[in-house]
Amino acid sequence: PGCVVGVDVGGTKVVAGVVVEGRVQRVARRATPGRRVDVRLVEAAVVEAVREAAGGEPLAAVGVAAAGFVDAAGEHVVFAPHLPWRGEPVRTRFSELLGVPVVLENDATAAAYAEATSGAARGLDPALVVTLGTGIGGGVVVGGRVVRGASGMAGEFGHAQVVPEGRPCECGGRGCWEQYCSGRALVRADHEQRGGASDPLTGPQVTTAAAAGDPAARHAFEEVGTWLGVGLANLAAALDPAVLVVGGGVSAAGDLLLDPARAALERALVGAAHRRVPPVVRAVHGPEAGLVGAAALAAERYRR
Ligand code: BGC
Ligand code: ZN
Repeated sequence: PGCVVGVDVGGTKVVAGVVVEGRVQRVARRATPGRRVDVRLVEAAVVEAVREAAGGEPLAAVGVAAAGFVDAAGEHVVFAPHLPWRGEPVRTRFSELLGVPVVLENDATAAAYAEATSGAARGLDPALVVTLGTGIGGGVVVGGRVVRGASGMAGEFGHAQVVPEGRPCECGGRGCWEQYCSGRALVRADHEQRGGASDPLTGPQVTTAAAAGDPAARHAFEEVGTWLGVGLANLAAALDPAVLVVGGGVSAAGDLLLDPARAALERALVGAAHRRVPPVVRAVHGPEAGLVGAAALAAERYRR
């Protein structure tokens, strides 16, 4: 008995939700305290969000979807560009802090799991899932299973270099795809469009403005969407996927983001005129795919 909570620990926010039969029932949020802060602050925000989401109900198990590199054993976050975890035994920590079994998975891998089992990638094989939030996360589904890689770190597409000597990235590299295509990149593109004078809008504000026809915001989506399509074309060249699924906070913008991505994919995919160009679709579980997937993994392993 008790509820299963999934919690997504991103570079900007922490979102926890009680998940019942693949649906998010009650949600609680906290701001991510930062990426250079004491890990205890991040842990506290996660524990608070989980407890608030549970709302006094006993917990059965918790799935943690973390925006970082999770080792093959699902025990440590070995590195996280947007979070302070460096080789931290995160699964055990949360299990101790919360007093229940915990499953730890990379946020995008968890999202790919949710989409493959009950979302846009169901029955479509192979499938690629990318999530656009603070950064870009990636998941590869082959034979109905999520590919985790030799050390647990498959799908780190966000840090593929797309511009040599390009914009610096929080991973320590330069020119990473997520510097041109992510929530942060959208905010930046919009700000540049406005001449950089006033305070930057937030990602959701850029989306609202674009939906209302604002030219600067529209332009920002054109730019970020085009980078999305180019990156997806490269991934499609490698894997020949049946579907390309886009999730994460930015995907809430729907076709504002996906239309320019589809156009760029058509232009950039090798042999596009002679092959089936994979459809680009939104994640069925939307921006919550990560927490839904982590909760599903926890429920599978620990319920009953
Ligand atoms: C991290 C990934 C994460 C992604 C989305 C990237 O910067 O390297 O591990 O999945 O952001 O949060
Ligand atoms: Zn990077």
